[in-house]
Amino acid sequence: MPLTDNFGRSIHDLRISITDRCNYKCVYCRTGTNGAAYAELPFDDYLRMARILVGLGITKIRLTGGEPLLRKGIVEFVRDLAKLRTAAGKKPEIALTTNGHLLAEIAQPLKDAGLDRVTISMDAVDAERFARITRVPNGYESVLAGVRASRQAGLDPVKINCVLLRGFNEDQIANFGRFAREEQVVVRFIEFMPLEEDRVWTPEIVVTLDEIVSRMAEYLPLEEIAHERSETARRYRFSDGVGEIGIIAPVSHPFCGHCSRIRITSDGKLRTCLFSVWDHDLHELMRRGATDEKLIEFIVKVVEKKEERHHIGEPGFVPASRTMVHIGG
Ligand code: SAM
Repeated sequence: MPLTDNFGRSIHDLRISITDRCNYKCVYCRTGTNGAAYAELPFDDYLRMARILVGLGITKIRLTGGEPLLRKGIVEFVRDLAKLRTAAGKKPEIALTTNGHLLAEIAQPLKDAGLDRVTISMDAVDAERFARITRVPNGYESVLAGVRASRQAGLDPVKINCVLLRGFNEDQIANFGRFAREEQVVVRFIEFMPLEEDRVWTPEIVVTLDEIVSRMAEYLPLEEIAHERSETARRYRFSDGVGEIGIIAPVSHPFCGHCSRIRITSDGKLRTCLFSVWDHDLHELMRRGATDEKLIEFIVKVVEKKEERHHIGEPGFVPASRTMVHIGG
């Protein structure tokens, strides 16, 4: 029984946040003072949720946070997830989103445990600017080591997520183009969304897809290539065929009509949209002893009512009930 919502979208991507703690305080995400706001569950609880959801058609699981590498036991958790089987008898694809700070040591063990892919967040490719954005000194070298260790471990592809903010780091666009080619990674620019703790978002701060493409052309022109409908990023390659760039443009080119994602927060709430104004307490049901059948009934009903789309930038926009770090990006 594959999961489908009332708009006919089939749901096959699951993101699980395993903590909302983070060791970085990126200026566009955190206030700089807040720590964790929500509980963390034992891995066995996330595993049960994942098992049930894979039984309902989930084929891809992404671990995120907060910073997922802060959780001890993540390698064993990946190993357990890798034992799950989809309806087609395949291992679900397992991916990780991380700031990369602790990745160098653990990339190979994660790969050996069954991790397929990694996305590492970097909002600048120079050490000083990197420190200003993350508000953590000396992170750049650790993250770069994490990027290289991931490639060496055979995690493929290694993707880099970069959120651009006007007046802050849009001058890094060409440097990221160079970085993608030199390090053989896919760099994906993400339009800034109103999901930050400080509520500083304005449409003017967003560096849009069109602008990114034209600024990159000052370095080297990009050509668009085909992407899966449910993929968040539009894909581009450089005109000489070396290097790939992605652009995730939820603000200027929304892709909600093809959304295939649901999320579980660190405290076990099911969220059907980043911009949901409420969440659904799957863990509370489990805690009260619900059978798998009851949990399935709950999940199917919740997913049916997945939001049609977000309303970023529209009059009367209602902010999500949680900010990005407490949802799981
Ligand atoms: N700590 C991990 C990391 O840094 O990748 C995982 C969690 S982080 C919230 C996931 C991604 O969301 C990062 O790439 C981050 O840059 C992005 N992000 C955070 N706030 C955002 C916002 N308001 N708009 C767009 N992307 C955002």
